[in-house]
Amino acid sequence: MSSDDEGVHTICPYCGVGCGLKLLEEDEPGSVRLQPWFDAPVNDGALCIKGGASTQVVDHEDRLTEPLIREGESFREATWDEALEHIVDELERLDDEYGPDATGFFASSKVMNEENYLLQKLARRYGTNNVDNCTRMCHASTVYTLRQSLGAGAMTNSMADLEEDGEVYWVQGANPAEQHVIAHSNYFRQATLDGATLIQVDPHANKTSRDADIHLQLKPGTDIPLLNIVLKTIIDEGLYDEDFIEARTTGFDHLEATLAEFDMEDAADICGIPLEDIQEAARIYAEADNAAIFTGMGMSQHACGVDNVQNEVNLALITGNLGRPGTGVNPLRGQNNVQGTCDVGAMPNVLPGYLEVDDDEARESVEDVWGFEIPPEPGLTNVEVSNAIGDSIHGLFVMGENPVMSEPDALEVEKRMADLEFLAVQDIFMTETAEFADVVLPATTWAERGGTVTNTDRRVQLMRPATSVPGNTRHDLDILSELGTRLFGEGFDFDGPEAVFEELREVCPIYHGITYDSIGLEGVQWPCYEEGDEGDQYLYAESFDTEDGLGVIRGVRHQPPAEVEDEEFPLVLTTARLEEHYNTGTMSTRSPTLRRKTPENFVDIHPADAADRGIEDGDYVTLRSRRGEIVLEAQVTEDIKEGVVWTTPHFADARANTLTNDVLDPLAKIPEYKAAAAEVEPVGSSEQEAADD
Ligand code: SF4
Repeated sequence: MSSDDEGVHTICPYCGVGCGLKLLEEDEPGSVRLQPWFDAPVNDGALCIKGGASTQVVDHEDRLTEPLIREGESFREATWDEALEHIVDELERLDDEYGPDATGFFASSKVMNEENYLLQKLARRYGTNNVDNCTRMCHASTVYTLRQSLGAGAMTNSMADLEEDGEVYWVQGANPAEQHVIAHSNYFRQATLDGATLIQVDPHANKTSRDADIHLQLKPGTDIPLLNIVLKTIIDEGLYDEDFIEARTTGFDHLEATLAEFDMEDAADICGIPLEDIQEAARIYAEADNAAIFTGMGMSQHACGVDNVQNEVNLALITGNLGRPGTGVNPLRGQNNVQGTCDVGAMPNVLPGYLEVDDDEARESVEDVWGFEIPPEPGLTNVEVSNAIGDSIHGLFVMGENPVMSEPDALEVEKRMADLEFLAVQDIFMTETAEFADVVLPATTWAERGGTVTNTDRRVQLMRPATSVPGNTRHDLDILSELGTRLFGEGFDFDGPEAVFEELREVCPIYHGITYDSIGLEGVQWPCYEEGDEGDQYLYAESFDTEDGLGVIRGVRHQPPAEVEDEEFPLVLTTARLEEHYNTGTMSTRSPTLRRKTPENFVDIHPADAADRGIEDGDYVTLRSRRGEIVLEAQVTEDIKEGVVWTTPHFADARANTLTNDVLDPLAKIPEYKAAAAEVEPVGSSEQEAADD
């Protein structure tokens, strides 16, 4: 038995809740085991199944341990010198032949702030703003809207103040009981046990809806009409906060005008929910002293994602539910460092601290520290980079991401990866994307290196190395440092992550007051402008961070998904994550514990839709869209609405993203993962029909 004092304090590598845990190195080097960190700031020692199984990837037999260089159809082992020189040669060749904007750089929400900071600096030193991260796939529309309408692209509040002061939790397009498990168990469920009301809006019944007081099971892609019913009910019944609207917002007239001719009965039909159920929820939210909105990818991953989130902002603003504990609009961020990856500037339009790249003064403030010119035009997003392969994009550097699994219309993505003149991937496993690479660099895992990560409520926390580095692997930071030095001579040679963080603080105002010492074991929530500031648990107490300090209300109208049901594809396909798996499955499907719980993909189908197609529970079916098809097991269940099918994105052998639509929100450029026209049929039935014909 080990004592409570033993172990290295670090942070779970999976979701954005940012749970603390401790690691103990086993007798065998490279192997670690978990210890609870009982007074961890976010989770008080609790972990979900993923956190509990997180060490299983550390000494996994599939780990990449040597640099690899492509030789024909396969790879050969190479030295680091060879692999890095090959990358330098190819990046220089691409620059000479096409210019720097012919290459894209994908940062990773699974790695540390310091590593992402260095990658985006490297891309900009190379001469391009084509650098992005997976927030483009999850909350790009949320970040865009919150920045435009309130000021900061992050949670307005914190889990702790919500638990203490929240009376109503409005959770839309999110399932925290399965996807942010400890946030749900330690905060939401605890609050509901203490009398708070939980309202969930989601097409799929799940563990959150089973804990909810009200579950509004809408049809995918109808969030705007649903929230317009809520807004109109509040306005018609005088439940809005006139003083707050007058003093702190702009645009209420526009919202009123948008809703003037709005027919609530028609809208309820579009949503597939009785009008009175939506109105009851509206009154509960509006009449609470403190009500908080939580928003997830069910809202953001639509071609109208920006407008979806704007309607949540409208709801919070007209009821005065911002700027106090227990209120706000709060995105539940997916990966453990997706917030930080955006904060440190790994996006094509912003530099560290969300300084706009096309703002001369802001850009020059960073150039003064970096000592080189930054291109002034925003670059391409990661989906735009992917779509431009073979056209304007010829090279790609990928750190810890897996676009072949994560991007929509994945069969097309595969073809484009094969069309690249040069692809370098740095990762811990041979991913589906790395299979297409020219050079693969073996990186270290979360348990082997240190640095900071920023969780969903803006808390910057320290991860600490707990075990030795296996084989010939290197830390992402060391790889980028060496690559930058080989490419540019100076500006990339740092003595470890703390030295990188010190430079980050210089250019990133919201992190300026944070130091490794001040982070300690508690973490610091940004914004933290000066050393000694404690950071902010909630934002906008006095004013919003917009130009005039006012929160922006803007009425929005229903836009159906880009692809709607028709005779050939009469169902709506939607996707979401499982409690026991994670995103592209690179780590979670290699974990014996997580894989045992759900070994393969499946599709949920309503009993009426299953009966129409002769499908029984447990049958294998073909799930098709206009872009591809996969074979998987059918789960016949009333958890999903009639006319809708639901599957998960985690499994390479039944890849949901071969089916999803790559249409983008025009402003945030996030793909519409959540709604595509689809059909399901028993395996073999189309072959049988063809034979019968
Ligand atoms: Fe890890 Fe998230 Fe689970 Fe916490 S809730 S243990 S951070 S996966």
